Amino acid sequence: MRIVDVCEITQPIASPIRNAYIDFTKMTTSLVAVVTDVVRDGRRVVGYGFNSNGRYGQGGLIRERFRDRILEAAPESLRDDARDNLDPGKVWAAMMRNEKPGGHGERSVAVGTLDMAVWDAVAKIEGKPLFRLLAERHGREADPRVFVYAAGGYYYPGKENGALRAEMRGYLDRGYNVVKMKIGGASVAEDRARIEAVLAEIGSEARLAVDANGRFDLETAIAHAKMLRDYPLFWYEEAGDPLDYALQAALAEFYPNPMATGENLFSHQDARNLLRYGGMRPDRDWLQFDCALSYGLVEYLRTLEVLRQFGWSPSRCIPHGGHQMSLNIAAGLGLGGNESYPDLFQPYGGFPDGVRVEDGHITMPDLPGIGFEGKSDLIKVMRELAE
Ligand SMILES: [Mg+2]
Repeated sequence: MRIVDVCEITQPIASPIRNAYIDFTKMTTSLVAVVTDVVRDGRRVVGYGFNSNGRYGQGGLIRERFRDRILEAAPESLRDDARDNLDPGKVWAAMMRNEKPGGHGERSVAVGTLDMAVWDAVAKIEGKPLFRLLAERHGREADPRVFVYAAGGYYYPGKENGALRAEMRGYLDRGYNVVKMKIGGASVAEDRARIEAVLAEIGSEARLAVDANGRFDLETAIAHAKMLRDYPLFWYEEAGDPLDYALQAALAEFYPNPMATGENLFSHQDARNLLRYGGMRPDRDWLQFDCALSYGLVEYLRTLEVLRQFGWSPSRCIPHGGHQMSLNIAAGLGLGGNESYPDLFQPYGGFPDGVRVEDGHITMPDLPGIGFEGKSDLIKVMRELAE
């Protein structure tokens, strides 16, 4: 058993949306395939991955460093002999050979993308859904029912509060009961009016989370906190720079309601610093590390171990990104749920065909691997890459 090829293509996932920090008009993603020599059900096993959204494709890093390290490793050094499978931890170690610690940059995105494809292949080789494989290997009961919330509420050119309300109404009509909108791209007064418009629309049918995308300095973050605490929000997300733990800790003094952050922390060491210094509260706050951006599931397992050491439950994690990889981790390892972008980042984001949101939850179908084969528009572009 061996990996015979690793393919990458950088694809556009552009859209006219804007958050407080960036617009997505030039956004791309890396799509990768890990091709094995294993055959299951008459078909060669190929694992697929892509790098979530928001950090651009990583084709340069993948083609210049990480692909070759996998292909140049002795095949037996990547095997899990006891299970007659590939060992994702060993593939990860091969990729990270000759990489210095710290300074994670965006190599964590390149590695996370390839790691996703490796886990997809491993679960396909075992012939089971990844979430069931993870639950088994960690002595847990899988729970295929996963909480998902609808992320949107971006700033679009010319978008009025009426359009924002209609967007949120659309999410409720599709079964969501938590919705999220962007803040920080307008004045406090304008954002207050946007929030009140959405709250008037959703009433008691849903909760609202808000996301500042790391835009604020301490003074602005506190000014917003004082406005936001007037409302029963689901969470106040990423107020300040992702690495400014003192800002996050200070904010807790002004904001008693739930806070969320972590989507731009790309290693278990960064996650640990957030828990050490960020003032995050394990009884109410939320952690949003996205494995596809942060060295993959091999690293995410280390992050979950850090959480455990600091008294945090995995159920406080609701990852960024809206991809099926995090849905599998949620269902298999007991995370609190997953983000979802009902209208964006297609065909990569979203659920297998036929999966519906009901009462804010989806139920994972029993598909081998991550489940990409169940999403017809996605598997079509994946197979064009490698099959
Ligand atoms: Mg966010």
